[in-house]
Amino acid sequence: MTAPQVLDASTSAIIAAEAEHVAHNYHPLPVVIARGEGAWVTDVEGKRYLDLLAAYSALNFGHGHPAILAAAQEQLGRLTLTSRAYHNDQLGVFAAALAELCGKDVVLPMNTGAEAVETGIKVARAWGYRVKGITPDRATVIVAGGNFHGRTTTIVGFSDDPQARDDFGPYAPGFVTVPFGDAAAIEAAIDENTAAVLIEPIQGEAGVVIPADGYLRAVREITERHNVLFIADEIQSGLGRVGETFACDREGVVPDVYLLGKALGGGILPVSAVVANRDVLGVIRPGEHGSTFGGNPLAAAVGTRVVEMLSTGEFQRRAAALGEHLEAKLVEFIGHGVTAVRIAGLWAGVDIDPAKGTGREIAERLLGRGVLVKDTHGQTIRIAPPLVIRATELDWAVEQLKLVLSD
Ligand SMILES: *Cc1c(COP(=O)(O)O)cnc(C)c1O
Repeated sequence: MTAPQVLDASTSAIIAAEAEHVAHNYHPLPVVIARGEGAWVTDVEGKRYLDLLAAYSALNFGHGHPAILAAAQEQLGRLTLTSRAYHNDQLGVFAAALAELCGKDVVLPMNTGAEAVETGIKVARAWGYRVKGITPDRATVIVAGGNFHGRTTTIVGFSDDPQARDDFGPYAPGFVTVPFGDAAAIEAAIDENTAAVLIEPIQGEAGVVIPADGYLRAVREITERHNVLFIADEIQSGLGRVGETFACDREGVVPDVYLLGKALGGGILPVSAVVANRDVLGVIRPGEHGSTFGGNPLAAAVGTRVVEMLSTGEFQRRAAALGEHLEAKLVEFIGHGVTAVRIAGLWAGVDIDPAKGTGREIAERLLGRGVLVKDTHGQTIRIAPPLVIRATELDWAVEQLKLVLSD
């Protein structure tokens, strides 16, 4: 086995100093990054690493993409924040571009992914009462087991991951959990109080769990037939990652509501949004919902550039082609230190044979070889490189994984 990485004195000192004053709500890999460019990052010692996590897909365009940096820099010098108490000259441009990308009418801008989810829940409830006619305070939202929608108190209440949920109750009522990938279970759970079905089309944190083909189409058909909103949390799966603009596109499905975040901010700042048609988002009236930073001109300028970059389809095509390339290599590992591979576009969950170590141990050994990945749920490593990565760089990373697994 490769010896665990011996930490440089200055790296250790920085990590120790950080631990003094930063709450221990994460368990980062022992590397201190100081610079990033494209798919590569450089640590404080000058060592380079290939970043195969890409900030959980927030860096779909890589570190410091010149076109996104230019949009941010131009806007930084002009105007960064107005609050929504006034109009600014960037928000409308961003909303129009994003609505068009989504094939929808209206955008409600927020900042983090969790805020987009919370907003989606509020919109679903208000729609349930004001449009569908659900009895006040009875609206429910159907969610899937294994979900990850963020860290707020309402959201963790309908997580079934003990680490995310335990000791943070009491939990908000109004959520019904059914198994992921089981459309019949959704239909069975629907009653007169159901306002929405909220799912990730592919579950990222769960380990890139891809439902069987036909699931999303069935969810679309069932929700339409029962007058229930279909809310797709595409915060991690959307914006090019899976080789299409949205993971729902893999089944030709259009949900009622898209929840977007992560890559929407171009890796520069948090930008999230709820995107839907006016008959849904129009239920929210002035004063009922908002955010001091949501829709700020800097975020809007960056978001507009991100949407422009996605509108050519270039990144989606890259993700599809590189994903096929990666899949061909990863499936070779099955039975050789890997028990399963799930892949959609340039997004893979690789289950490590426990005989080779935990996901965390594999991630640490890959770190020692200059490759950054993140483990999830014990035995899984997730591979989600920036979409700007080159095939030769992917090949090199896969070679490092092979060496780590054959140690
Ligand atoms: C990351 C993520 C969120 C939460 O986003 P934050 O910006 O961390 O609040 C919600 N849903 C999904 C599917 C995610 O991957």
